[in-house]
Amino acid sequence: MKKEIAIIGAGLVGSLLSLYLVKRGHRVTIYERRDDMRTRAVEAGRSINLALSDRGIKALEEVGIAADILPIAIPMHGRQIHPRSGTTAFQPYGRSGQFINSVSRRDLNIRLMDLAETRGVVIRFSEKCETIDWETNTIHLGSGPVQGDLIFGADGAYSAARLAHMLQHQRFEYSQEYIDCGYKELSIPAGPDGGFLLAENALHIWPRGDYMLIALPNSDGSFTGTLFFPFEGERSFEKLRTEEDVRHFFEAEFPDVMALVPDLVEQYFHNPTSSLVTVRCFPWIRGDRFALIGDAAHAIVPFFGQGMNAGFEDCRILDGLIDECGDDWTAILAAFQERRKPDAEAIAELAIGNFTEMRSKTADPRFLLQKKIEARLHERHPDKWIPAYTQVTFSPGIRYSEALMNSRRQEEIMQEVMKRPGIDQEWDSLHVEEMVLGMVGEGAVRSE
Ligand SMILES: Cc1cc2nc3c(=O)[nH]c(=O)nc-3n(C[C@H](O)[C@H](O)[C@H](O)COP(=O)(O)OP(=O)(O)OC[C@H]3O[C@@H](n4cnc5c(N)ncnc54)[C@H](O)[C@@H]3O)c2cc1C
Repeated sequence: MKKEIAIIGAGLVGSLLSLYLVKRGHRVTIYERRDDMRTRAVEAGRSINLALSDRGIKALEEVGIAADILPIAIPMHGRQIHPRSGTTAFQPYGRSGQFINSVSRRDLNIRLMDLAETRGVVIRFSEKCETIDWETNTIHLGSGPVQGDLIFGADGAYSAARLAHMLQHQRFEYSQEYIDCGYKELSIPAGPDGGFLLAENALHIWPRGDYMLIALPNSDGSFTGTLFFPFEGERSFEKLRTEEDVRHFFEAEFPDVMALVPDLVEQYFHNPTSSLVTVRCFPWIRGDRFALIGDAAHAIVPFFGQGMNAGFEDCRILDGLIDECGDDWTAILAAFQERRKPDAEAIAELAIGNFTEMRSKTADPRFLLQKKIEARLHERHPDKWIPAYTQVTFSPGIRYSEALMNSRRQEEIMQEVMKRPGIDQEWDSLHVEEMVLGMVGEGAVRSE
């Protein structure tokens, strides 16, 4: 039966979800708090660009729009590490041909909304959800009430739909956890000829232990840099108070960046400092008429570049469940949260773990040796060993919860391998390979 579906939030996930639902013949209206960013200078939201990878792409493919989106993406084949010494080192993300993609949040959101409208979705802007009346399934917007047979809350990490759901739900579980680091974006301009001042096809990282700077390329030749930095402590946002403080800090820690960004100090004081939150909640649904999706259900920190990808995967999985359950929305929504909750928990944990990896371990020779051993094992025994990054980023057939479980087991094995005397010399020997395979036994990598 065709339904009247209301989606709250025309962000990345709400817009994609609308495409899946309209394709099935439902009437879909999105209510978006912001003005239309296509006609007015409206901020597209947090982070100027993001990494789109295989899980997100698969979700775009399945609804038939990957070819509309991928032309605006810039491939990033690996990490370009910038140690303090001023040298650089390239660490590929996976095998040749495996890469992630930098996309502008604004351009991506605009394309998704354009496609949605072309296919019959109605988007109503400047319509803020204030609350929801669950008796009648009525959304109270600033402009008045609207009803939907089915409502999706796709309104992000600070979801109003979630709040309305939580306030009228017994035993609703909720937590929000901030990490002690915040972030600030700093733009690295294009060169005088419009070219890239850093290697184009890489995600750049300046790992500095407790903090780091990263930069992703934009199609106009600029990079968006993001400083992830403690709020408080000896080296922290709190301590950089004057222009002099900021100049000294960047000259000492990121001199190459300082040289590329003439107005860095102005940007530092002009651009906001934002916080990073993990949101966990349960349940995500109400019978056959409401579900949270995307960040509204599971906001995570950005260190695995998976928040949007996970939200896009939510849409694909939900669509698969519609195939399985037909018109039975009670069954569809129950299966959706049952299936996605453990995966959301897993990617939240993996994302927090990857912060340590990015800010400190990417500069550690022991860690790099371990990655080299793992890459070799994967090359020689792809069915027995898949590096954790590859499982999360390039393997949509492996659930996040499976990737977490597999990666824990693999890490235990690698800890044993790294203890082996002389491992630096014999890392690529048959002994090491046999040792690992012996420990792996049957099926170190579990997947669907
Ligand atoms: C610094 C940073 C870097 C990131 N990098 C990556 C990355 O590289 N790769 C990746 O996959 N993910 C990344 N993410 C995560 C990604 O941004 C989110 O997972 C993604 O935006 C979630 O999409 P969403 O549509 O669920 O929520 P949002 O993008 O937050 O969209 C929510 C929408 O709802 C609207 N809205 C909010 N409240 C209301 C209301 N009351 N009524 C109506 N509308 C409302 C908002 O205006 C917005 O349009 C990053 C996040 C951050 C903070």
